[in-house]
Amino acid sequence: MREIITLECTECKNRNYSTTKNKKNTRDRLELKKYCPHDKRHTLHKETK
Ligand SMILES: [Zn+2]
Repeated sequence: MREIITLECTECKNRNYSTTKNKKNTRDRLELKKYCPHDKRHTLHKETK
């Protein structure tokens, strides 16, 4: 049971990445350090609703 989620940059709110997650294993909202093309650096990306 994997669900497609979108990751949003916490700095500029751009939605740069989509990924999947296993809801059974990951119950909290995902937070990942990803490169943001807009900010041109690594920022924290959070799962959108
Ligand atoms: Zn950004």
